[in-house]
Amino acid sequence: MDTKIQRLDADEVRRRAAGRWDQILRSLAPELHDALDKPKKHFPCPVHGGKDGLRVFKNVAETGGVVCNTCGPKADGFATLRWLKGWTFPEALREVDAVLGGGPAVLVPVVTLPAKQVDRAARDQRNADLREYTKKLWAESAPIMDEKAEVLRRYLNGRGLAVTEDIYALRLHPSLPYVDEDGKFVARYPAMIARVAAPDNARITLHRTYLTEDGHKAPVESAKKVLPYPDDLTMHGAAIRVSRSAVVLGISEGIETALAVTELFDIPCWAAINATLLGGFEPPAETQWLMVFADKDVSQAGERAADTLWEKMLDRGIRFTVHYPPIDVPEGEKGVDWLDYKLACSAPGKP
Ligand SMILES: [Zn+2]
Repeated sequence: MDTKIQRLDADEVRRRAAGRWDQILRSLAPELHDALDKPKKHFPCPVHGGKDGLRVFKNVAETGGVVCNTCGPKADGFATLRWLKGWTFPEALREVDAVLGGGPAVLVPVVTLPAKQVDRAARDQRNADLREYTKKLWAESAPIMDEKAEVLRRYLNGRGLAVTEDIYALRLHPSLPYVDEDGKFVARYPAMIARVAAPDNARITLHRTYLTEDGHKAPVESAKKVLPYPDDLTMHGAAIRVSRSAVVLGISEGIETALAVTELFDIPCWAAINATLLGGFEPPAETQWLMVFADKDVSQAGERAADTLWEKMLDRGIRFTVHYPPIDVPEGEKGVDWLDYKLACSAPGKP
């Protein structure tokens, strides 16, 4: 096929989309509605979770661009949709064309549009820097049973959790810089580092829990954060493989919750980090029974995530069960998880 004609078609969709990205994203990506309503504000990222890393570009109607502090900038609407939905460029192009009322006459191109050289160079540099930094942090961190990881063991013990050498996804970094949402350096803290793995177990990034020397959570705005990752990788399907892969596998949101589940029920349990990622979790091929150890949230976010994951698993032919902690959410709290249940069980005079 003539790539020139195909490229013209892509250009043509791009031209029609310019100035209308606000509406296009509203149609195709309801998860961006809040950010589109308040373009100056920061929102939780629909891909990796977090508290307030995402905002739309000032000129989002013109470009369709958004930026997440962790997932990186998405320069235009096609990049935004590919990142959000896991679509290929031709898929994104087809969806945008459909929203714009295009007919089947528009060909789907097999070539991507030529990116601006300067953008590509900056992007490649960012990706290379992030890979290097991730590798460096992991190498600087001590395995959980190492004598240098005392702070990590103190933290986990303090949360009521046992420490074993099987927990190889967790390490302690002795002195990790904490940077606020505007990129400003605040201070250095020891940090629990967790390896975030893709469905094929390749490392995507690291999850950080900032601690104090005496093993508490550090007094910072977001003590738990995902390290920014290269934009040629995706968080879709990712998890922290807290313990080994298994035929019967548990999945929870938090790392500490996963550890509590393993202690309570003696089954391997992984951590999806948050409700957003739990909904998109991709179990390993050998898993035949996926047990979701959901959080019981007042907002029902945990329940919705379990529903989303259940829909995704419907045709997989694997057994799927959801388990909520059998305790009530205390007055004034946002929710309870399986670690809360474990602690309630060990408290004197409790269930
Ligand atoms: Zn993100």
